[in-house]
Amino acid sequence: MALKSTPARAAEFRRRLLRWFRRHGRDLPWRRTRDPYHITVAEFMLQQTQVGRVQGYYNHFLERYPTVESLAVAEPARVREAWAGLGYYRRADNLHLLARTVVEHHDGIIPSDPAHLVLLPGVGRYTAGAVASFAYERATPAIDTNVARVIRRAFHPRLGRGREQRRLWETGAAIIPRRNGPTAWAFNQAIMELGALVCTARVARCGECPVRPACATGRRKETPQGGAKGA
Ligand code: SF4
Repeated sequence: MALKSTPARAAEFRRRLLRWFRRHGRDLPWRRTRDPYHITVAEFMLQQTQVGRVQGYYNHFLERYPTVESLAVAEPARVREAWAGLGYYRRADNLHLLARTVVEHHDGIIPSDPAHLVLLPGVGRYTAGAVASFAYERATPAIDTNVARVIRRAFHPRLGRGREQRRLWETGAAIIPRRNGPTAWAFNQAIMELGALVCTARVARCGECPVRPACATGRRKETPQGGAKGA
């Protein structure tokens, strides 16, 4: 059967992805909250550290600095102490600076608009989208390495490297649910989860993938084992 047109395929991709996530999404501490500060802490920790390692540090850090105000007034050395074990201390410095900026210039409220978020210390385009989506349920794309891989394999398997980023963000914006709300939140969590658990960098497990009927790579690169080599 021929692949459906992109809008129809995007709708099927969304539907299948969301259904899978409801059953298989991991219960992670930052998925139980919409607190913008807590989400921001998680996103900074996840920038260069895997989910399994971040969980313990996340709880420990928030016990020590439960609010953006408490972090803003902390001594820099104490913040680094609370970050110890996670490495890449630049993230701790940036998070601390972000807290001070939010308290001084945003009345202690982390912005909800990605265009404002991206101006904060240590916040790039992905983190801005993630905080807007995971804290405020904004229907905005959040494309990290895992999500980029899924979108590329599913919608642009032949995409040239030169214009990759622009195209992936355009498609990310086109396939996310239109309205702000819990479904937009779930979609971003789900596509990230698919990239972490099924459509991984090492191997695309197409044989067990919920979106396979809507995925260009999954439909083209079948193997007898039901897998597809990484694209
Ligand atoms: S079908 Fe295969 S390539 Fe497509 S999203 Fe699933 S695992 Fe990735």
